[in-house]
Amino acid sequence: MSVPLLEVEGVSRSFGGVHALQGMSLSVAEGESAALIGPNGSGKSTLVNVVTRMVDAEAGAVRVGGVDVTRARKHRVAAHGIARTFQHVRLIPELTLRENAAVGAIHRDLGTVRGTVRSFLSGRLGKADRAVAEQALDLMEVPASVRDRNPDAVPFALQRQTEIARALSASPRLVLLDEPAAGMNPAEVAMLLRLLRAVNAAGIATLLIEHNMEFVMQAADRITVINRGTRIAHGTAQEVRRDPAVVEAYLGARRAGGEESA
Ligand code: ADP
Ligand code: MG
Repeated sequence: MSVPLLEVEGVSRSFGGVHALQGMSLSVAEGESAALIGPNGSGKSTLVNVVTRMVDAEAGAVRVGGVDVTRARKHRVAAHGIARTFQHVRLIPELTLRENAAVGAIHRDLGTVRGTVRSFLSGRLGKADRAVAEQALDLMEVPASVRDRNPDAVPFALQRQTEIARALSASPRLVLLDEPAAGMNPAEVAMLLRLLRAVNAAGIATLLIEHNMEFVMQAADRITVINRGTRIAHGTAQEVRRDPAVVEAYLGARRAGGEESA
């Protein structure tokens, strides 16, 4: 078997007394559409944060193309081709959608810059960066007519599309999408499905993070299920859906009333 593009092996991380991840494992192959699902609070975002080096793992390993990046600097992980989007959209309010998308090309450590000013960033965007961003915005179906607007002047779905475009502007091999469908209506979710397929068609692997089972079943070829920081199942949509541990985790979460909040 060839080396997976992303390999997470036995990763643990706790916050205070909370074991967010406990020996969690997962892998994503080159070009694949994979998903990670689990109830709220099960450790999904922590996993994304560990992979992208925003949070340190306390145990275990993260490898990209066989290279250990568990303790690598954030920008090194980005340089290996890993990009992400955030559960709560993080665009820079002072920049246009165009500029926000282009930030991914210059600031490959995940496209978030805090406390920066418009002129500083805008001045650093070269012609090539802007061209890459324009292509990414095309792929994400952000209409040319709104690209010069600021994020707060466009509907929420367009902000998310722009955030995915920013991730794509880093020319990644894998994009981790942390609950991209959250807050979207059914028509927007259908669009998102189409956009994710376009990303895969461009040869880029995706790891879709979701808590909604139905959406993920349509969106991913292979699904890993996490509960309480640990992998409880993985396989195709059909395999996972029938797995008693998965059914129990979801019913348990519903009984506890923890299923739908953000
Ligand atoms: P999910 O994304 O699956 O909803 P998270 O990874 O966000 O779950 O959270 C898993 C658990 O870890 C939760 O109990 C959450 O409160 C806790 N947690 C995550 N990040 C932090 C943090 N930075 N500080 C304290 N607790 C955290
Ligand atoms: Mg989360």
